[in-house]
Amino acid sequence: MLEVIAKIREEALARVAAATSSEELEALRVLYLGKKGELTRVLRGMGKLPPEERPRVGQMANKVREELEGALKEHRENLSRREQAERLRAEALDVTLPGRPVTRGNRHPLYQVLNEIKAVFIGLGFDVAEGPEVESDYYNFEALNLLKEHPARDMQDSFYLTEDVLLRTHTSPVQVRVMEARRPRLPIRIVAPGKVYRRDDDATHSPMFHQVEGLLVDRRVTFGDLKGTLMAFLKQMFGDQVQVRFRPSYFPFTEPSAEVDMSCVMCGGNGCRVCSHTGWLEILGCGMVHPKVLSMSGYDPEEVSGFAFGLGVERVAMLKYGIDDLRLFYENDLRFLRQF
Ligand SMILES: [Zn+2]
Repeated sequence: MLEVIAKIREEALARVAAATSSEELEALRVLYLGKKGELTRVLRGMGKLPPEERPRVGQMANKVREELEGALKEHRENLSRREQAERLRAEALDVTLPGRPVTRGNRHPLYQVLNEIKAVFIGLGFDVAEGPEVESDYYNFEALNLLKEHPARDMQDSFYLTEDVLLRTHTSPVQVRVMEARRPRLPIRIVAPGKVYRRDDDATHSPMFHQVEGLLVDRRVTFGDLKGTLMAFLKQMFGDQVQVRFRPSYFPFTEPSAEVDMSCVMCGGNGCRVCSHTGWLEILGCGMVHPKVLSMSGYDPEEVSGFAFGLGVERVAMLKYGIDDLRLFYENDLRFLRQF
């Protein structure tokens, strides 16, 4: 009997020492010391022993039980310390680590420039109007004196949704929409910023780009008003030293029409690669609102006159910041965008 107990002791202590979890220890406790455990069974069987042997066996069994209980307790504590340490490691939060800085974004350079353009015109008494990017043929072309077979439509090949619905090729339809909505009230003084679409894609053309349209309609508006307004705008955008010139041009919705050049911001007018050694940069198109456009929008061209202009935001931003590839604006490369 003593040998059986010694064997149980040896085996039990070895298994406790090798246990790797609290669950395993609990199973061992039940196995050896539980109600139906091995050591318990030995103690229960003591009745069959000769009376003189019982004290020794009982003593030894109790000693082993105590020893085993002690080993279980000690090992359980070790394990739970280790398990807790592991949990802490897994959930570790080191409050002494320096925080991760929250990086602050900034406005896209195109929208910075767009906001600057708006701010200048708001300062000149204009307000901001917007129109839909999905436009009807009527507002995009016809109401602007570009009838179906007009050759100037070729320069503005766009994306058509149906034969009569397209992505607008310019912000000019907003002119018509605003005149229709506000007539007969005067004056109309608006800038209309927004996205426009054309079927172009290269280093200087993007299928989507931004324009700002301007429109002023009132009584006795002259080309002099147009020149003064645009010169004030360009000087505020590019500095007082900038020179401005107007070249005759053609747009179906203005008459007369002009292209506006300003002295090259890179070389100050001396000639460089950016200005193709002319000293001048083309910056926008403008003109006096065509009488047909006025009358189609419900105004009498004998009574009122107006001027309109349109400029590309990308073009202004490229010249302002010396950017040579239009596509940089759309590639979302943070190395580029962070510079502004
Ligand atoms: Zn130049």
